[in-house]
Amino acid sequence: MSSRLRLWNNPAPGELGSGVMEFLQILAGPTCIIIPGVDATRCRFVVTLLHGNEPSGAIALHRWLTGQRSVPAVDIYCVVMNIDAALREPLFSYRQLPDERDLNRCFRQPFDDEPGALAKSLLDLIHRTQPEALIDIHNTSGVGPSFGVAVYYDQKHDALVSFFTERLVVTDLRLGALMELSEQDVPTVTIECGGAQQEASHLAAYEGLSRYVASKDLFSPAHTAWPIDVLHNPVRLELDDGLNIVYAEEPVAGADLCLRVDIEHFNFGDATPETALGWVSETGWQGIRVVNSRGENLRDEFLRREAGRLYPAVCLKLFMITANPRIALSDCLFYAVKRNGSSPA
Ligand SMILES: [Zn+2]
Repeated sequence: MSSRLRLWNNPAPGELGSGVMEFLQILAGPTCIIIPGVDATRCRFVVTLLHGNEPSGAIALHRWLTGQRSVPAVDIYCVVMNIDAALREPLFSYRQLPDERDLNRCFRQPFDDEPGALAKSLLDLIHRTQPEALIDIHNTSGVGPSFGVAVYYDQKHDALVSFFTERLVVTDLRLGALMELSEQDVPTVTIECGGAQQEASHLAAYEGLSRYVASKDLFSPAHTAWPIDVLHNPVRLELDDGLNIVYAEEPVAGADLCLRVDIEHFNFGDATPETALGWVSETGWQGIRVVNSRGENLRDEFLRREAGRLYPAVCLKLFMITANPRIALSDCLFYAVKRNGSSPA
């Protein structure tokens, strides 16, 4: 991985390739494309491809950069990060290259390896240019609707998210993600624009991006077309290394945790204490942690095991559910917040 961010000022649409693959091949490494706006005294950032298997942001950027666009309201800094991982065959399948750290966990000390140095070079650029906002576009690994994530909630973050989606998760979990450090200088939101394979996700990213770059006043409440549903302080369901996880319609012999195949359908839906999420062995149950921002394990507050089945202990809203056992083990299986009462909000 290259640890330096190349700057490319105002390329002509014809220089950027005819599709997203060609676009990334032309960029060849981490790049910031700068598009001058009407008001050159202000700038905004859009960052994407921190994860190489999340193409919607790059697809949307390429479409905007090469389309019939008008001059944006302010200077736009378009940052495309982990091109090396995205271009590794099979294309768009690596979150990061094998043996490298997750780039979106590198925005905190130490910065002493290549992903860390690249993260630091982006932070330095942000500090130098003082943007008025930063949007970081991702996909979820599972199928599901779009939502925003922020570490802080106020009218500015509400307004930024509403360019893209009507759901916002406000988290006090600190993982070393871009939104955590950039937030010190600039209102920052992560946009999870839905599953990586869903055409609707690419469209949501493009439409949100088009509104974001065109807006003269980002934080005017006037553009907020819909009320935002805000979820506070999710916990993560993490699993011990070495657990055997499967997804199936029936319990599988030898599996520590067997999740129902349609578990992704609970993304942002309500899971009640009667909703069986799957089957779990005693070993599996001991290997489940439900972790809050202080690192406390709240498993028994959120989950229960009965007759070998796994249920929510209370009404939960689940999201970022993954159906990929590798991600479930290395990152987390899902995020959850408690829902008050039984009525969906
Ligand atoms: Zn991501």
